[in-house]
Amino acid sequence: MVDRTILHIDMDAFFASVEQRDRPELLNRAVAVVGAGRRTVLVSPSYEARAFGVKTGMTKPQARALCPEIIYITAHAEKYTATCSEIIKILYDFTPDIEVFSIDEFFLDITTTMHLFGSARDIATNIRKKIKQGLSLTCSVGISYNKLLAKFSSKRAKPDGISMLKREEVSAVLDELEPDQLCGIGQKTKQTLREMGIYNLGQLRNCKISLLRKKFGINATNLHLMAKGIDEDPVSTAEEEEDAKTIGHSMTLDHDITQVSEIQKHLLLLSDKVCRRLRASQLSAGCVKLTIRYRDFTTFTKQKSMLSATNDTKQIYKVAIAILKTIRLKQPLRLIGIGTSKLTAQGSPNFLFEETERAYRLNKLLDDVNERFGDETVSFASLLTEDNPETVISPAWRPYGTRRYK
Ligand SMILES: [Mg+2]
Repeated sequence: MVDRTILHIDMDAFFASVEQRDRPELLNRAVAVVGAGRRTVLVSPSYEARAFGVKTGMTKPQARALCPEIIYITAHAEKYTATCSEIIKILYDFTPDIEVFSIDEFFLDITTTMHLFGSARDIATNIRKKIKQGLSLTCSVGISYNKLLAKFSSKRAKPDGISMLKREEVSAVLDELEPDQLCGIGQKTKQTLREMGIYNLGQLRNCKISLLRKKFGINATNLHLMAKGIDEDPVSTAEEEEDAKTIGHSMTLDHDITQVSEIQKHLLLLSDKVCRRLRASQLSAGCVKLTIRYRDFTTFTKQKSMLSATNDTKQIYKVAIAILKTIRLKQPLRLIGIGTSKLTAQGSPNFLFEETERAYRLNKLLDDVNERFGDETVSFASLLTEDNPETVISPAWRPYGTRRYK
């Protein structure tokens, strides 16, 4: 398996920096953005204030005691959200796979786009440059092969830097650290671990999972994996997070594709994924939307409504193909997506037609198998054969033992 390359972008003292940027008289001063209420706490102290020991979450008197000259500024939420949108625009120049983790933190999966820009470090440098030039703000970037470690690395890069953590360095770096240095391990967990005699991540990593299970139950496995620096969680893009009114799936391609036959194969896989999700939610879709993104990142969508709603892979696939036929492809594709909308409750299947019944039973069987043995255990036969490019769909379903597509 190829390692992913994940960036975690974390804006430096975001709210305070936006205020300092917009009000030059605040530059190089100890300032803190606070909420509107009288009993508010500090939401974002500037680095100048932090130098006095001022921290996020302190009350105003607490911070004033540490730093008498501190200037309080009431938060301007719209300004921060607008700036956040500007940042996202910049990030989209480098990958479509962006997870907005919070208003000032972003995960980027650059595995498939890295080669276009040089290296991960080149991308990090370019992003920092663009944000600095375009928005007069600094950020820190962590680079690693999963979200957990990318986020851990950006903290080490702060402020205004880049930090990279490679697989071979992980145990050396993590082992001596206290467990709460990882995002997701809090004070309470740290305390419980201490009571077990576990003071650092190395000890946690080497602890028997059965012992952890006694204290942490189902969270034990995750804790153990975290101490090893393992995190399989994907960067989940906004598209995937859209509400239940649409269900869709898109994939960034390993390489840009031009062959219609290859596009068809991907559409089949995507139809299958989307329909499985529809069926799992007992929904049918009345509209199919095809999304394609060209090599130069321009994106194009086109949709088509159906006479009756369905969650059958074959039906959705056919509509996607029909849409594809109406598009004149201008450039090689780098991303393909299928979305479905006009969702309705699936209802009980109408077996008026033998074909409908057959499709329903097949889909159900496949869903069950895939659920029990993992995604893509069973897939369309035409996905497996390179030598039959014109096959629109194979009527033959057969078991498939290995994962070829993620
Ligand atoms: Mg931040």
